[in-house]
Amino acid sequence: MAATALDRAPPAWRNALDAGLARFGDRLRAHGRLIRAVQWAVVAVYAVLVIVPALLPLPGNAQHIWNDLTLAAQFAFWGIWWPFVLVSMVLVGRAWCGVLCPEGTLTEFASRWSRGYAIPRWITWGGWPFVAFAGTTVYGQMTSVYGYPKPVLAVLGGSTLAAVAVGLLYGRNKRVWCRYLCPVNGVFAVLSKLAPLSFQVDRAAWAASPKPLRGAESFNCAPLVPVKAMRGAGSCHMCGRCSGHRGAVRLALRAPNHEIVHVAGDEPSWEQTSLILFGMMALAVGAFQWSSSPWYVDVKQAVATWLVERGTTWPLEHTAPWFVLTDYPEKNDVLTLLDGGLLLAYIAAATLVLGLALSALVALAARALGPFSLRRFHHFAQTLIPVAGCGVFLGLSALTVTFLRGDGIHVPYVAEMRAGLLAGASLWSAWLAWRVAGLSAVGLRRAAATACIAGAAALSVANWVLLFWVW
Ligand code: SF4
Repeated sequence: MAATALDRAPPAWRNALDAGLARFGDRLRAHGRLIRAVQWAVVAVYAVLVIVPALLPLPGNAQHIWNDLTLAAQFAFWGIWWPFVLVSMVLVGRAWCGVLCPEGTLTEFASRWSRGYAIPRWITWGGWPFVAFAGTTVYGQMTSVYGYPKPVLAVLGGSTLAAVAVGLLYGRNKRVWCRYLCPVNGVFAVLSKLAPLSFQVDRAAWAASPKPLRGAESFNCAPLVPVKAMRGAGSCHMCGRCSGHRGAVRLALRAPNHEIVHVAGDEPSWEQTSLILFGMMALAVGAFQWSSSPWYVDVKQAVATWLVERGTTWPLEHTAPWFVLTDYPEKNDVLTLLDGGLLLAYIAAATLVLGLALSALVALAARALGPFSLRRFHHFAQTLIPVAGCGVFLGLSALTVTFLRGDGIHVPYVAEMRAGLLAGASLWSAWLAWRVAGLSAVGLRRAAATACIAGAAALSVANWVLLFWVW
């Protein structure tokens, strides 16, 4: 029997949920003052955690995260904030950016008194998401940002000062920094594509609604999203200020695969492709791996022996100040120039080798569907977002486990959770590839393209297996 219109109507609970979400979006818009109060509270906590530990002596071995501000700040930033903000991107989009981020608050606040210069072309350069992510990740490893407060002040404090400076120069009441230069903007933009919640625009309703009268109250989209044309969640900060605009914008649910399958293919982006393949799935792996890698140790021994045999010992003896390389002799934690050079070489090699291997597999997937097409290549790269995000989360959450273990708190079933997350993320990526391939092929071609992406996911997983289970 043919389905009637009534059969196809959404169930009552779904209607109630949709209405509730739209109301929630409207409340975000209506309670801007409350959100700003929360933002300033976050700024205050952030300032204390970034600045004060850098002024205190390093904690002793008897200190814990619950009785020492420096250790508490370390745990807050690297054990909770970083890994779980990443998770929040996949759950609720960039709500962190629009509602809680202290840097966003400060740059927008500074922008009230901006000189109002037009945004120069160097700021809008598409390479920033990769370069900023790579720069902060590598510098963080060189200075052991996860373990000491001064590098935290340098990295986070420096980034915040830059955000304020950009706010004072460009745009007015905007977040130019967040839109183009924030070191995690690219990672957040790709992960939020998976979020089941987003602000969505009904273009027909927008076009049909009467134009707002001149001077009528509008809204300020601080991260400069072209709201009318918005099709995805990557650049929206979920602040809610546009909710209900022209009766066409509302907070709503969507299928977590929708944006990657149906939108990302129309927006080919080498910026995001390089960030996914060479940044999140390659450089980040090198950054998390090097200190546990037996290959690093072997190469270091070989190079050190080679240098000593030639009477060149200064790279093994000399260090650099803490803001260049880790230098805490009182903690027995010092990187020599040789250590620093090899650290950079290891991360660079991981970036190139893994990035090129992954690119080759993604290119094969695109080729499996027919004549090679760059658009398809970029589209398939997007299908790896789940496994790329999972890897970065696991690398960061390893710090959470280490911090807790250092204080005698054992987290149960860590290995099982890691294995489950890697397996789930890989299957998700393969499923996305199957869906994307299905847009233009069937049968063997579709299966071959999916197998290539599954191979890329397996290559990524193999690196985390080495780190968590083999080394
Ligand atoms: S499109 Fe802009 S104004 Fe609307 S919720 Fe997103 S960030 Fe806020």
